[in-house]
Amino acid sequence: MLLIKNAEIHSPSPDGRCDVLAGGGKILRMHPDIRVPARYCEVIDARNLIAVPGFIDGHVHIMGGGGEGGPSTRTPELPISDAIQGGVTTIVGCLGTDGITRTMGGLLAKAQALEEEGISTFLVTGHYAVPLRTLTGSVEQDLLFIDKIVGVGEVALSDHRSSQPTFEDFIRLAGETRRGGILSGKAGLVNIHLGDGRRGLEFLRRALVETEIPPRQFLPTHINRNPDLFEEGTAYALAGGFVDFTTSTVPAYMEAGEVKPSEGLRRMLDAGVDPGHITFTSDGQGSLPDFDAMGRIKGLGVGRVTSLFAEVRDAVLKEGLPLATALQVITSNPARLFKLKGKGGLAPGMDADLVLLDPRDLTVHSVIAKGRVLMKARKALVKGTFE
Ligand code: ZN
Repeated sequence: MLLIKNAEIHSPSPDGRCDVLAGGGKILRMHPDIRVPARYCEVIDARNLIAVPGFIDGHVHIMGGGGEGGPSTRTPELPISDAIQGGVTTIVGCLGTDGITRTMGGLLAKAQALEEEGISTFLVTGHYAVPLRTLTGSVEQDLLFIDKIVGVGEVALSDHRSSQPTFEDFIRLAGETRRGGILSGKAGLVNIHLGDGRRGLEFLRRALVETEIPPRQFLPTHINRNPDLFEEGTAYALAGGFVDFTTSTVPAYMEAGEVKPSEGLRRMLDAGVDPGHITFTSDGQGSLPDFDAMGRIKGLGVGRVTSLFAEVRDAVLKEGLPLATALQVITSNPARLFKLKGKGGLAPGMDADLVLLDPRDLTVHSVIAKGRVLMKARKALVKGTFE
């Protein structure tokens, strides 16, 4: 068992000072004074620390992505130490542009590897193109038969790299995903990659008005990629939609008008968007190609999972948002949207995924996943098999 003493709890709402006892991967008890004989458990003194739920990153190219400038531009797999450093204890993995050399079978194997190494993983099935290449032959079967698959994605819209699906193609896929979600008791979420194209959120707005599919079935990402899309995203969220910010970026994108997630979160909340309708994801291990006006690649970077909490931290320290509000976008909100049982909060019966933060500068001090200490006092205790 693991006993965390005297932590200031944000679950993510502030819950005062408390001890947390974990065992068998779960939180067993939370109480101001828990005593267990030392021989039965490891004790962490968290007197000067804040305990928050482990972070959920809902969009990570765990087996790598990219390849948009040819085979040498395929990005590498996620090393678990990146997740640990960033306080990320749950990941939803996805394929991206490339669903040919990267397959759902490979993605599932990588998700299982990360799970064995210490964190929790889930997947969305498919890649940019419609119709999807699934694992079992259909979206509904993938959702029903593969535990880790909770939705589809990332399906590309409004992008020169998309398969240019019609609205009918898109909405048929959303309907199939919803049915699979209902039958499997999972979220059946459609994760949508939005490009810089003029059509922006058009299909999503139409889905809200013209179909019976509820808005929570769709999670469009990269909503902060340019000022116009950000404005459209704000209006869409005000109309009841859900939106996801991408936290990893390169300087060239910021210069070109990408909205910094910490600032974007504050601006959306100022505009009256329900904080429960916003999530952050890192797009980790995705390639960050910088295209010139002719569509040729000028440069290439790799998204980092560590950017996820960095933006939440900036939302608190630079934008003045309450910690509980900022934390929601990487804890309780994604847990609810992806329907991840036992994730995104701190309470008895939930998974023992915790991050201890240093309140002085809001840096990650310790990381616990499924009751196991992965990082203690800024020192990683766990590494990947080949790290
Ligand atoms: Zn994308």
